[in-house]
Amino acid sequence: MSDLHEMAAAYEQARTAPDVTDRATGLEEADRIGGVALVQARLQGQGAEFCADCAEPIPAARRKAYPSAVCCVECQSLREVRRHG
Ligand SMILES: [Zn+2]
Repeated sequence: MSDLHEMAAAYEQARTAPDVTDRATGLEEADRIGGVALVQARLQGQGAEFCADCAEPIPAARRKAYPSAVCCVECQSLREVRRHG
């Protein structure tokens, strides 16, 4: 199992945790795993398989068009809105 799949699984688990403390801890853990996975992906010159923001799978077509993309189209546009106010 790759780190990216581990990250997605960790996010999913955290999102559905019944206890709010478990959920917070789980999301922190998922961020840690996700951070490692993203660094590894960048070192390999590849984009992420899963969105860095929402952990949804990034479509293959987008990854092909933007090999360095680390988040899905939706989150990317949200990031740009935030950046440009
Ligand atoms: Zn996303």
